[in-house]
Amino acid sequence: MSIKALKGFKDILPEEAAVWQRIEATARDIFHRFGFAEIKVPILEKTELFARSIGEATDIVEKEMYSFTDRNGESVTMRPEGTASVLRAFIEHGLHVRQPVNRLYTIGPMFRHERPQKGRLRQFHQLSVEALGSEHPRLDAEVMAMAALLLTELGLTASLEINSLGCPACRPAFKESLVAYAKARVGEICDDCVRRSDTNPLRVLDCKNEQCRIAFREAPSILDHLCADCRAHFAAVEEGLGALAIPYRVNPFMVRGLDYYSRTTFELLSGELGAQSAVGAGGRYDGLVAQLGGPALPGIGFAMGMERLVLLMQQAGEGQAQLASTVDVYVAALGEAAGKAGFRLLHELRRKGVRAAMDHEGRSLKSQMKQAGRLQARYVFLLGEEELKRGELVVKEMATGEQTTVALPGNTGAWCETVAGKIGL
Ligand code: ATP
Ligand code: MG
Repeated sequence: MSIKALKGFKDILPEEAAVWQRIEATARDIFHRFGFAEIKVPILEKTELFARSIGEATDIVEKEMYSFTDRNGESVTMRPEGTASVLRAFIEHGLHVRQPVNRLYTIGPMFRHERPQKGRLRQFHQLSVEALGSEHPRLDAEVMAMAALLLTELGLTASLEINSLGCPACRPAFKESLVAYAKARVGEICDDCVRRSDTNPLRVLDCKNEQCRIAFREAPSILDHLCADCRAHFAAVEEGLGALAIPYRVNPFMVRGLDYYSRTTFELLSGELGAQSAVGAGGRYDGLVAQLGGPALPGIGFAMGMERLVLLMQQAGEGQAQLASTVDVYVAALGEAAGKAGFRLLHELRRKGVRAAMDHEGRSLKSQMKQAGRLQARYVFLLGEEELKRGELVVKEMATGEQTTVALPGNTGAWCETVAGKIGL
């Protein structure tokens, strides 16, 4: 029996790769426009890194991580998100010493042991962005504007929801009143929420259970509990978004599944993704760098799910399956000697920047022409024993069927360049 991929682990086939490449290229272009530089970090980290940053009592750390003991008895984890690793690298290499504000992005796979469904995998990919070194609310607006611009340039629409989670000064009082509210409704809420109200109370606010949603509809709002500083910060974020004409909605129920967030949090939602409506999410994490042993630097970031972007692109007709590879020129050779000459010609074309293909199996002309059609070749260079003897080559333009005979001089290199120029490649 043949071996299949693991559940929740997906192959990205060649015909799908074009959409992925487009998303990545657009993202890089926009991130660079905003002054972000790429950083590549390992997939495997010490388990402690995620426990310390994401939080012990979160779904991710409690039940979703791919953790194992390696051959030296060390507990290691396949990264479930990018921020912790990027900050670890940031601190380890002292990147803050080089620049006042550091803007970093990373693109790659993440791993979470969740129940696989549409838009939810166990290995998925994120575009992950971090801006460190400023707590200015304009930076929050700038980062959200960048996320929104990426969606726009991909031809997608999503709605932006924002909230503030307060800071260590004001959040405890809010938590208390939320816990009191939850405890008074123990009979109405799900077992998970009963447990959460002890371990991670904010999470009761985004419980998906209908009963809980009803029960928490009248729950106290974090926005009524913000301290003066957090209130001013949030107002300035709104002002920044307004200045850039970025539409948004304030959602006081939005909390995030990771403990490290403070103040601004946001999500980009699409109505076209079904249950998995979040295309991207992020927020401030002003205490995290210090918590990981680094300097006291504020920061903000977000991550977008690439599989969900691909789904949206496909739904919008932007992600039609595309041929994995097409060529400009197909070299069709007949016979051993023409095969040899064609092989040299093939390489010469490629050296001149032409996408070229050729068959090595000595197939019939008919089957070579068929292959040229499959590869959507614009030109076929026909090389038979007769042509070779005469020092000629037939160039067939596939769109018009027009054929021209051209002389094939000894110096194929120069000739290829001329041909490439003549046929506008
Ligand atoms: P969700 O509410 O969908 O579980 P999350 O809050 O766990 O999302 P984050 O950890 O903030 O998500 O990750 C940011 C983005 O990464 C999400 O908005 C989503 O697009 C994507 N994402 C998260 N988990 C998965 C997954 N298991 N499969 C595919 N994409 C995912
Ligand atoms: Mg999740």
